[in-house]
Amino acid sequence: MAKNWYPIIDEDLCINCNTCVNFCQHNVYEEGDEFPIVINPENCVEFCRGCGKICTEEAISYFGDKSIKE
Ligand code: SF4
Ligand code: SF4
Repeated sequence: MAKNWYPIIDEDLCINCNTCVNFCQHNVYEEGDEFPIVINPENCVEFCRGCGKICTEEAISYFGDKSIKE
């Protein structure tokens, strides 16, 4: 359970390549028409940044990420 940590996709940056959907082994994402949908945020592994690192558009940030500067 990791409700304090899950990915948020920037809909303006995302090109819907689905790399993140295919990368994540925890069934967090589902393919969407315009961008992936975070269907199971509770499945996300706390402090994992795997999908964010492979996103070429840097479209993924994380709820709960205190390193993000406003
Ligand atoms: S990897 Fe990045 S650009 Fe590709 S679908 Fe995921 S969020 Fe969008
Ligand atoms: S952060 Fe890790 S566990 Fe969470 S959606 Fe991305 S790849 Fe999956």
